[in-house]
Amino acid sequence: DQEHSPKQLVVLGAGVIGLSVAYLAATRHDVGPFKVTIVARDMPEDMDSQAWASPFAGANWSPTPLERSDPRSCRWEQTTFNKFWDMIPTGLVKKLPTKIYSKTAENTSELQWTNLVREFRVLSPEEIPEPYVIGCAYDTISINPQEYIPWLKLQLIHHGVQFVRKQVTTLEELKPFIGSDGILVNASGLGSKSIIGIEDSKLFPIRGQTILVQSSDVQDSVYINDRDSSLNGEITYTIPRPGTSLSDTVLLGGTFEQGNWDTSLDMNIAQAIFERCAKLQPSLNDRNRAKILSHHVGLRPARKGGARVEAEVIQFPLRGGNHDLVPCNTSPSEECNTLQIVHAYGFGGAGYQVSWGAAEDVVSLIKSLL
Ligand code: FAD
Repeated sequence: DQEHSPKQLVVLGAGVIGLSVAYLAATRHDVGPFKVTIVARDMPEDMDSQAWASPFAGANWSPTPLERSDPRSCRWEQTTFNKFWDMIPTGLVKKLPTKIYSKTAENTSELQWTNLVREFRVLSPEEIPEPYVIGCAYDTISINPQEYIPWLKLQLIHHGVQFVRKQVTTLEELKPFIGSDGILVNASGLGSKSIIGIEDSKLFPIRGQTILVQSSDVQDSVYINDRDSSLNGEITYTIPRPGTSLSDTVLLGGTFEQGNWDTSLDMNIAQAIFERCAKLQPSLNDRNRAKILSHHVGLRPARKGGARVEAEVIQFPLRGGNHDLVPCNTSPSEECNTLQIVHAYGFGGAGYQVSWGAAEDVVSLIKSLL
């Protein structure tokens, strides 16, 4: 009974974006009903794979100049911040007292995000360490990707979502999962650069190196807002994380290296990160109390012009002219058909902090296609 059987919704990608979209699609009554399948190369159990970004995030809400110039991001962040704030009692999200210091005397009254965070205040000069001249304090949130991503997968399994591990070379390979009237959500991050049928040349990586330490002394987050060093690829932050299995972990960062694909670990960079962070949190220097757990390198999936959240209808067979080059089982005589896609990728350094808001826009786009 075709009319009453649910349509297929296939989500390509099991990062924080794909999982959040799948969660809304599987749980909201005003959309669907869908049979939701996640198809991905890297899965929530692959938290040490460098082929995707989600395991390597801070992850906190912090003001990111690149993303905040995009009005959609501000809206997505508002929704996401409120959702995460409400999740604090679950233990998956931590309330994070934060201080930002800056060497440049920006006008804090022009900061647009002061109402988004909680308890915002401008620091008095005696609260600001040298060489910084301005600072503010507020409460934000942090998430531990190592716990949050597997938790999202568990919720999805509970709601009947299926997971299929598959590396996709061309969109055509997804047709058997989608059926004749299903919808594809493309949440493949940097993968969208090379999947045939998408081939988005605007995507680029932003390399980030970090250190995970265990320290019960570091309870607050400190973040340096310094344009000179960030132009150099350096950013400095300490992010205490929530943790039910391992408590008192703190992420020390980091780097923000645009266009750098190198996922190898650089111990000179690690040394510099540790020294910058220990200047802000001197208790890190006491190696009896601060233990280094691991070093990490991840690639943020950034996109020139900002994230792509939009619907597209693709014609099959793909691109008549280059048809001979498409490595799939399409025969030249195959009839033309179409695929409805909603794209959701290119969130750069802010995938967690926009996740719920962006997923809501994706769901609205899915509804507009029905
Ligand atoms: P990904 O997590 O990269 O997932 C992509 C998915 O698509 C994976 O499942 C992958 O296997 C799949 N895929 C790709 N290609 C294919 C293919 N060809 N076939 C099949 N499957 C495919 N964000 C924040 O909000 N706050 C932070 O504090 C923060 N800090 C960060 C710090 C660092 C060091 C880094 C590296 C990132 C940070 N981020 C932060 C950014 C955040 O991690 C990303 O924006 C987010 O994880 C992107 O999620 P995604 O789901 O779009 O992509």
